[in-house]
Amino acid sequence: MEEKRNVYLDYSATTPVKDEVLREMLPFFTESFGNPSSLYTVGQEAKNAVAHARERLAALIGAEPREIFFTSSGTEADNWAVIETATAKRARGAKHVITSKIEHHALLHSCEYLEKEGFDVTYIGVDSDGLIDPREVEEAIRPDTAIVSIMYANNEIGTIEPIARIAEIAKSKGVVFHTDAVQALGNVHIDVKELGVDLLSVSGHKIYGPKGIGALYIRRGVALPSHMHGGAQEAGKRAGTENLTGIVGFGKAAELAGENLVSHIENISGLRNYFLDRVKERIPDIRINGSLESRLPGNLNITFKYIEGEALLLLLDMAGVAVSTGSACSSASLTPSHVLEAIGVPVEEIHGSVRFTIGDFTTKGDLDYTLDALDESVAKLRKISSVSKESGW
Ligand code: PLP
Repeated sequence: MEEKRNVYLDYSATTPVKDEVLREMLPFFTESFGNPSSLYTVGQEAKNAVAHARERLAALIGAEPREIFFTSSGTEADNWAVIETATAKRARGAKHVITSKIEHHALLHSCEYLEKEGFDVTYIGVDSDGLIDPREVEEAIRPDTAIVSIMYANNEIGTIEPIARIAEIAKSKGVVFHTDAVQALGNVHIDVKELGVDLLSVSGHKIYGPKGIGALYIRRGVALPSHMHGGAQEAGKRAGTENLTGIVGFGKAAELAGENLVSHIENISGLRNYFLDRVKERIPDIRINGSLESRLPGNLNITFKYIEGEALLLLLDMAGVAVSTGSACSSASLTPSHVLEAIGVPVEEIHGSVRFTIGDFTTKGDLDYTLDALDESVAKLRKISSVSKESGW
């Protein structure tokens, strides 16, 4: 038996901070710790660092630095984009919002809030691969539609949506378009100008940066009211003393993500395919969820029939392997994943679904170790399962 390893396969939940990122952050805790709004030298050092980070993030997504607004998280960026756009447009008669059934809760719960405020929300469905048909978005747009928000890539099944086409449709109808690119950043080539999006959300901790820092791209010319009121930070649009170390770390992580994008995609998708091929060879009665063609490089979402995903997660954890049974924020609850439901996975199979997400520190050895642990755990659970295949479950 191979020695026990610790294998982290939940890179979509969060990523470790890279050494280069941490090294850039450290002086801003203790030496250049000033408030960027202060006029003396240590304040100006901090201000310059924020400006540099803004340039780096802007470069990663093809934006202008002045179009980047730092927030506390991807969640905050999503809330800001959707709630403030809808609320501002209500004054001009808009009362309709379009999104999809497979969004992250940051977006879905913002839409539920808007429903309570009197908005109609259309939740666009997806096909069995999790893909949105842009024609459905087109048909759903009404004269009173305030905003369309469709995620770039799904956090559970990894499906990448046809964002450029949907943005084009929204533009042709004069409707603001937002995309949640939290999972796409660093995993897909993103150019906001080529995409034609108005608003785009990102987060630092998914790209080997620190937690608690996100950003919203606001295309120049899009009038988005601020949602935090106070000081004049972020060009007066998002008040609150800047998360200096977080911003510096996010900036460095963005620079690395841009430099490494091509090799990252190649390595990660190579490892993912290696793992997938071997799971298919070794474990019967599985189903792969999400599109295989239009998919994030590190994502694999697999249903293991006749078992409970939570039990599998715990057995794998005992073997030192970290995976997830849904998005991290909902995995503490046993309600079936709304994403797997939307792609038509039967409820009993949803409960047997596990997400493996591979990242920059994953090795082939980690995956071989995981395969052994997985094979053994699945066999064990199937053996003791009271609801076996034979009983017709
Ligand atoms: N949107 C998506 C698609 C996500 O996967 C996540 C995090 O899992 C978020 C938004 C929220 O980002 P944050 O953790 O920065 O709040």
